[in-house]
Amino acid sequence: MPYCYVCKQFTDYEYDIALSNGDFLHTSCLIKLQIREDEIESVLRKQNQQLILSLFVQTEVTDEEVVSEDEIKTLSSELQKLKGILFTIYDFLPSWPPDWNERRQYLIQRNGSICSYCEKEQHVYLIHEIPLCEEGTNELQNLELICKTCHENTYGKGDIFSSFTLDPDQSEFTEYFKEIQDAIDNNQRIRFAYKKPKAKSCMTRVVIPERFLNIPNNRESGKTLCVEGFCELRQDIRVFALERMQEVEVLDY
Ligand SMILES: [Zn+2]
Ligand SMILES: [Zn+2]
Repeated sequence: MPYCYVCKQFTDYEYDIALSNGDFLHTSCLIKLQIREDEIESVLRKQNQQLILSLFVQTEVTDEEVVSEDEIKTLSSELQKLKGILFTIYDFLPSWPPDWNERRQYLIQRNGSICSYCEKEQHVYLIHEIPLCEEGTNELQNLELICKTCHENTYGKGDIFSSFTLDPDQSEFTEYFKEIQDAIDNNQRIRFAYKKPKAKSCMTRVVIPERFLNIPNNRESGKTLCVEGFCELRQDIRVFALERMQEVEVLDY
């Protein structure tokens, strides 16, 4: 039975988040945590500004703005706990996590701004080792830093960083590619049957496609052609591998 990782209540899995470690999550529970994180951060930020300001000028502080030291301590420890829970959730989110840039910064701090392919010091981008559409996670051990040149040499020009062109060795996807490209250009929705890597059967998805991505994988082909778009079932941005899509049709409405 799918129970929410946060509130432990039952989830109707059709409309909730299925984390890639097998846990489930209410979208509403995730949003509540994120809102609480924002709230606390803004209180602490204000408190800091107040503190800095009071060093320079005598400011009139109204009673409601005063937060006691005890409250600050309580809020800080609540924030630490929240960040821990959110970090674990983001590890297994089936889409790019909101803290993607923080993860990149963390790896740069740990390893230096060094491309893990050419090992030179460069401006580096963050990518998944096993892509999301193959059930790769956002855990730090599945992330790596890569420079633009190495990314282009390994996965083709364009891709994640700019506009997309279909490679000759991806000709098997030409038919769907054209259809989906038209849908992107005309703001149309597409419907298709989708088979997830470990699932036995297909599920119908309706998606507003936004862009193509060539996502690195560890297989011989080296890359998985994916389309990213807003999934109506999950009510969120998702990534779909074209090789798992069947019966693609563009919807007129
Ligand atoms: Zn919940
Ligand atoms: Zn490189």
